Amino acid sequence: MTAPDLSAISDSNIAPDFRRARARAAAVLRENHVIRPPVAPREIAESYGLSVQLVELPGDLNAVAGYIDLGDQVISVNAADPYNRKTFTIAHELGHYLLHRELFKQHPERYQVLLRRPIAVETDPLEKEANVFAAELLVPMAFLKLYGKYATPDELADLFAVSREVIGYRLKFANLAAVA
Ligand SMILES: [Zn+2]
Repeated sequence: MTAPDLSAISDSNIAPDFRRARARAAAVLRENHVIRPPVAPREIAESYGLSVQLVELPGDLNAVAGYIDLGDQVISVNAADPYNRKTFTIAHELGHYLLHRELFKQHPERYQVLLRRPIAVETDPLEKEANVFAAELLVPMAFLKLYGKYATPDELADLFAVSREVIGYRLKFANLAAVA
């Protein structure tokens, strides 16, 4: 019997496991008894023993939205970002904590700070998983179906306390899911 090939886990070419990311987000909502939007990712992160701090980043780190210290269990969020961006950063880093912390402890070089950039340009499978986790956590499909029929995308962004980009991403996913 051969040992499992751990090098395969750190291969950046592995396919992201979106099903696992979505299932974990759904479990987190259940565990925290979330029954309506807006979802409060900071309180949820704290329920898993994490703390969240706002940080003033120097100009050369202006592109950084946030990061997590897995040792100290602290999520740092760029204080200059609007609140609806901060929610996504916290949810994204919580996703790394719940999905990837053992992997990152073994392969710290795999961890990337979260940059302020469009979700669609992300290519790293672990970053994509954390984005899917965050989108599922902040805009649960059941809630989106409740409000999506009569609220505009801008109103939905306000209601869910996320950016217009995240709402667009979720509406697109909902439409695709309905067709499938
Ligand atoms: Zn990330």
